[in-house]
Amino acid sequence: MSVKVCKFGGTSMADGAVIKSVKNIIDSDAHRKYIVVSAPGKRYSADIKVTDLLYKCHEQLMSEGDLKTSFSAVRARFEAIVKELGLDLDIKAILDETEERIARECSEDFTASRGEYLSARIVAEELGAKFVDAEQVIFFKENGKLDGEKTYATVAAALNGAQRAVMPGFYGCGADGKVKTFSRGGSDISGAIVARAVSASVYENWTDVSGFLACDPRIADSPRQIKRISYKELRELSYMGANVLHSDSIFPVRRANIPIQIKNTFRPQDEGTAILPSSRYTPSGSVVTGVAGKKNFTVIFIEKSHMNAEVGFIGKVLNALTCEGVPVEHIPSGIDTMSLVVESCRLPEDKLERILEEIRNAVEPDVLRVTENIALIATVGHGMSSSVGTSARLFKAIADADINIKMIDQGSSELNIIVGVHNDDYEKCIRAIYSEFFK
Ligand code: ASP
Repeated sequence: MSVKVCKFGGTSMADGAVIKSVKNIIDSDAHRKYIVVSAPGKRYSADIKVTDLLYKCHEQLMSEGDLKTSFSAVRARFEAIVKELGLDLDIKAILDETEERIARECSEDFTASRGEYLSARIVAEELGAKFVDAEQVIFFKENGKLDGEKTYATVAAALNGAQRAVMPGFYGCGADGKVKTFSRGGSDISGAIVARAVSASVYENWTDVSGFLACDPRIADSPRQIKRISYKELRELSYMGANVLHSDSIFPVRRANIPIQIKNTFRPQDEGTAILPSSRYTPSGSVVTGVAGKKNFTVIFIEKSHMNAEVGFIGKVLNALTCEGVPVEHIPSGIDTMSLVVESCRLPEDKLERILEEIRNAVEPDVLRVTENIALIATVGHGMSSSVGTSARLFKAIADADINIKMIDQGSSELNIIVGVHNDDYEKCIRAIYSEFFK
């Protein structure tokens, strides 16, 4: 029988009532066998996510040597959930043990991981499913990266034969044998790992929206729903800030050609968005799939005559950033010019000064200029490479909106065109592109 792996996010775990609807969703399809859960999220907009409460517990533990007061809020959340579900689970004993281990381990990662751990214990009980602790099956290497080989084999062995199983997301076991978390939102990655380990037919990611929208709804009015998107398109859009899904969660499933289906726990009847490997992807017919962007980049512009003929020029320039540990996002270039686009938060003033000095010494540029407050906007779609005039439409729409383009980068994939504009023009530019291609 083909197997579906389902990951339920924080809002799907927020209280007893929604966990009951999660159970209905799982019960309605016998293929939904393996479940990965997040820590309880917000119940209302001013509420605090359990993971954030746990980070506060760690802070209190470090500053006051005790976590009693901060842990009481975590306690209250889980006790209420167990009560609402009417479960026969000794949550008090589990919470006591958890609090005691948090105090003993004194580790931020361990403390933060307990939201997922407790959620999974409760959901396993509610479903009558096996509980598989991520600490025993997900492994990181010395360099902090996932140890895929060991992890996939161990996850598969732990799930083998289980009718249904629940695993906490967000964490695993570090090379030092201690609990280690992924970055925030990392339960999405855990779900993808389980899907890969069991060769799932689909990885269902249940959240609180009905999939991806073609544009940020805070910027354009009721943007169109994306029904199908390729991994590559999604990677471009989520890198640029479309954040329904953790961008690293694509990698484990992509290699195994497993599709991801984004679904809404609160509207399970909605189709959602299917994220498909290129082999299964058929374009939806629209030239552009989505538009997304990010503010606050810095552009370092370098001009030097005959730059193209100077062997190792680009290497020397990049070396100046490497020495300062600064990653470069894009490198648009011309014959005698090149620009380095860097996230501004990576460049505190002293670092920027050192980098510029190093570039001056290494390549003696004719012009070296820094432009700050740049927003990047990516227009993404497989359809763009095959349709004539897409860039003309894009640039005309931006010009008609009276926006000055400061940088253009089409990359080499023909999957996207990135434009750089002043931060102040960001929203206006996204709206102009969106209405050109979708209205
Ligand atoms: N609970 C963690 C966070 O808030 C991980 C997750 O939800 O995926 O970041």
